[in-house]
Amino acid sequence: MITAKTEKIALLGLPIDHSKSPEMINAAFSHMGADYIYTAFNVSRGKLRMAVEGLKALGFRGWNVTLPYKVEMQEYMDELDETACNMGAVNTVINENGRYIGYNTDGEGYLRSLMEEKNDLHLPSQRVVILGAGGVARSVGFALAKEGVHKMTIANRTVSMAEKLAQSLSVYCTMNAVSIQDCEKEISEATLLINATSVGMYPHVADIPVSSECLHPHLVVSDLVYNPMQTALLQAAEERGATIHRGIGMLVYQAAIAIELWSGFAAPVGVMRKTLEASGL
Ligand code: NAP
Repeated sequence: MITAKTEKIALLGLPIDHSKSPEMINAAFSHMGADYIYTAFNVSRGKLRMAVEGLKALGFRGWNVTLPYKVEMQEYMDELDETACNMGAVNTVINENGRYIGYNTDGEGYLRSLMEEKNDLHLPSQRVVILGAGGVARSVGFALAKEGVHKMTIANRTVSMAEKLAQSLSVYCTMNAVSIQDCEKEISEATLLINATSVGMYPHVADIPVSSECLHPHLVVSDLVYNPMQTALLQAAEERGATIHRGIGMLVYQAAIAIELWSGFAAPVGVMRKTLEASGL
C-alpha cells in the first residue's frame, strides 16, 4: 500500500522506457517489507537540473541516474564518495537530511557478482583484459585495481580512449593500452577477459568484440552486456572451454548496493535476479 509516508526513489535517464529496474527494485522493496516506491522518469535534454530540483523539493529519499546523465549529475551533489570521484560519474544519489551524496555502484556491483559466482578467483593474480574504455570499463577497471589486480590491458576501438583510461589507472597497477583489433596476444596470456563494450547487445546479437579463436580454457569471460543474457561472446567462450560470467549479475548487484544505501538493509538479490529473468530481458 502506498501511503503519504512512503519513501520515494526515482530513476532518471533518456530514454528510460526499456528499463527493467522498476520491476526489479520494487520487487526487492516488496519482499523486504520496506515502505518504498521506485519510479522511472524520462528527463528531456537540458532539463536535468530542473528534474533534480523537483526531486529535492519533493523530498525524494534518493535516485538512480542512467545514460546520458551520469556525468552531469555530479554538478548537483553536495558530496561525492570516492567511487563517484574516481569514475567522474554518479549512478546513485542518497538524500541525507537535505544533503545529497553521489555514489557509483557499478564497479562494486561487478566485483560482488564476480565473487558470488567465481568465489575461488584470486583477484590479485589475475591478468586482466578489458574490452572498451567507456563509463563501465572505467568503473570495473578502478574496482579491480583497488582489489589489487596488478596487470591490466585496456583494448578499445578508439585507442586514445584506451590510453587515457590506462593512464588514470596506472597509479594502481601496470597498465597497457591497445587497439581492440590488435589484442589477441594479450587475451592469449590473460586469465580474465571483460567485455565492457556495447558489442553483442540487442538487436545486434550476432556481433562479437574479438575473434573467438583467441578464447581459451584458462579464461574467465565476463560479458557486461546483459541483453541478451547469453551473448555471442559467451557462447563462443563456452565452446572454447572458457568459464563464463554473465552481465545480469552486475545489474542485480549495482542495484542491491543502491537499495542498501537508501534503506540501510541487505537487498534480496535472489528475488531481484528472478524478477529480471522473468521479465525476459
Ligand atoms: P559507453 O561509455 O558509451 O562506452 C561504449 C564502449 O563500447 C566504448 O569503449 C566504445 O568504443 C565501445 N564500442 C561501441 N561500439 C563498438 C563497436 N562497434 N566496436 C568496438 N567497440 C565499440 O558505454 P558504457 O556505459 O561504458 O556501457 C557499455 C556497455 O556495458 C553497455 O552497452 C551495456 O551493454 C553494458 N552495461 C552493463 C551494465 C551491467 O550492469 N551489466 C551496466 C551498464 C552498462 P569507442 O571508444 O571506440 O567508441
